[in-house]
Amino acid sequence: MSHCNVRNSFLAFLAIAFSFSVSLQIHAGETERLLLVTIDGLRWQEVFGGADLRLIDKEAGGVERPEEVRAKYGSGDAAARRETLLPFFWDVIVQQGQVFGDPARNCHAMVTNGLFFSYPGYHEILCGFPEPEITSNDKVPNPNVNVLEWLNSKPKYQGQVAAFGSWDVFPFILNQQRSGLCVNAGWQALEIAESPERLEQVNALAEELPRYWQSVRYDVFTMRGAMAYLHQRRPKLLYVALGETDDWAHAGRYDLYLDAARRSDRYLQTLWETMQSLPEYAGKTSLVVTTDHGRGDGREGWKSHGVDYPGSDRIWIAVLGPDTPAAGSIRNYSVTQGQVAATVSALLGEDYALSNRRVTPALPGAVTREFRPAPDAR
Ligand SMILES: [Zn+2]
Repeated sequence: MSHCNVRNSFLAFLAIAFSFSVSLQIHAGETERLLLVTIDGLRWQEVFGGADLRLIDKEAGGVERPEEVRAKYGSGDAAARRETLLPFFWDVIVQQGQVFGDPARNCHAMVTNGLFFSYPGYHEILCGFPEPEITSNDKVPNPNVNVLEWLNSKPKYQGQVAAFGSWDVFPFILNQQRSGLCVNAGWQALEIAESPERLEQVNALAEELPRYWQSVRYDVFTMRGAMAYLHQRRPKLLYVALGETDDWAHAGRYDLYLDAARRSDRYLQTLWETMQSLPEYAGKTSLVVTTDHGRGDGREGWKSHGVDYPGSDRIWIAVLGPDTPAAGSIRNYSVTQGQVAATVSALLGEDYALSNRRVTPALPGAVTREFRPAPDAR
């Protein structure tokens, strides 16, 4: 045996030993696709405690028929009421995944942008850090890259990322012009439906319905658009941004706020169950759900949010999927809104936090998979 061969076999041994140790360390991860859902301004109070009985009346909640609303959402203790309001969230997402943010469990999910309204909140969720330059909800193109845009810039995800939002500021938050992301938001007509006839019907309905808000369409249209896109295009990353919860609260209608929360839960269930029925998604999809800000408390405070409304800095974040241990409602932890972006990418096996020093790391314990070391990192 020549010296050269000995050296080669030694190198081969090293290579095998190295790759073995690497494969031992890396949990490859099951997640290939991801669903991100935000429910605008849905309070932690309702998420963890169900309907707030103090608000089911005419004066505090604008409720014309309190008896009916109490019968629908007001029975039992907090645990029973939250199951009534958000059955899929509690029976499936928390049972099989995790939720952060229950103050009763000493778990704090906090907004860090200091403003506690929508654009700064969505910036923090999607870019992974607060941006002091975003100080209003104006339609200003986002100066920063967000995690959807960052993923869409990779060949693996190019054209595979889509966002459907009820609020018409999303094309600016996601900087559609720069990012080239597929974004459909506000009262913008849908472009895809199950059939051309169906598309015409849905868009005609959206045209003819009275518009309670100029800048926010009813969530049903956002959902119709997202579902049609899911069936026809099967994107790797789908973002659905629901908005009605926030707007019914601002309108002082606690009954319609509760109905919107209940509907949002049903939409989560429909999206998730549809994905589990499609071969591209079944068993290899993760779900992240959160909100852009909290709201105030008490008989007036619940309607609004911002620096003048204590508690607006508290949110909740839930994660479900094959790479997330079933840990339920997390205890004794503090997390921030900015951790959502890196969690989304980490679930997909991509390290967004490496792309920008401002990005906050992924949620602790929510992602078991590790990143494959890049070739140049060895
Ligand atoms: Zn909001």
